[in-house]
Amino acid sequence: MKAIKLLMMGPPGVGKGTFGKLLSKEFSIPILTVGDEIRKIAAQESLSQVYIDIAKDVTKGKLINDGLAWAIMIHKLKDLDTSRGFIIDGYPRTATECEIMEMCDFQYDLVVSLKQHEEVIIKKTLARRVCESCGSTYNLANIEYEGHKLPSMKPKVKGKCDNCGGNLITRKDDTRSVIQKRLFTFQVHTLPLEKYFAEKGKLIEFSPYGGVADYPQLSVKVKEKLGLP
Ligand SMILES: [Zn+2]
Repeated sequence: MKAIKLLMMGPPGVGKGTFGKLLSKEFSIPILTVGDEIRKIAAQESLSQVYIDIAKDVTKGKLINDGLAWAIMIHKLKDLDTSRGFIIDGYPRTATECEIMEMCDFQYDLVVSLKQHEEVIIKKTLARRVCESCGSTYNLANIEYEGHKLPSMKPKVKGKCDNCGGNLITRKDDTRSVIQKRLFTFQVHTLPLEKYFAEKGKLIEFSPYGGVADYPQLSVKVKEKLGLP
C-alpha cells in the first residue's frame, strides 16, 4: 500500500487530536501534533532567546515563527516510523508555511477539515484535561448546544489518566481569552488555506455534531476519498 499522508485541519479545540488519533489507530500510522511539540519546547527552562520567544508566543496564543514550526515538524517526523504514512495535526497554519511546504515538495494526500460551532469549541476547550505524561486528552463537559450533542470523555479515576495513570492537568493556554485569540488567529491565517487544498481536490469537510461517536462516518469519508477498501 502507498504511504498515506494526512493533515488534520480545523480551529483549536475542534477535536483534531481526538479524531486524528482514531484515524492513526485505524490506518496504523503515527500522528504528530505539532502544537504539542511546540508546547513541550515552550515548557523547557532555557535562557536561549529562541526558547524564550517560543514560550512567549505560546502563552499568548500566538503562532510561532513559520520556519521554526517547519523545522520542528520535520525534525520530529524523523523519530517516527512513517513507512506506511503519517498524520500531521497543525501544519501548515499560515500561507507562508504553505509556501515552505511547496518549496520543499512536501505534499499531503488528504486534508480533513473539522468544523464546529465556536461556542461549542470554547465550552469544550475550557473543560479539556490533558495527561501530563502521555498527552492523552479528556473532556469533563457534557455539551448540548443547538443540536450538537457532545458527551463528556471522563477518565475512569478522577484526575488520573486511563492509559498511564499520569496526572490530568489543564493546559496553561486553555483560558477563555487565549482560546478566543487562538480561534481568531485560526480564522485569519489558517482557514484561508482550505481553499488551497480544495483546489487541489484534497479537502474533505466534517462536522462532528455528535462528538467522537461520529467517527465511523469520518472513517468512511476518508477511505472513500483515498480509494481504500
Ligand atoms: Zn497518560
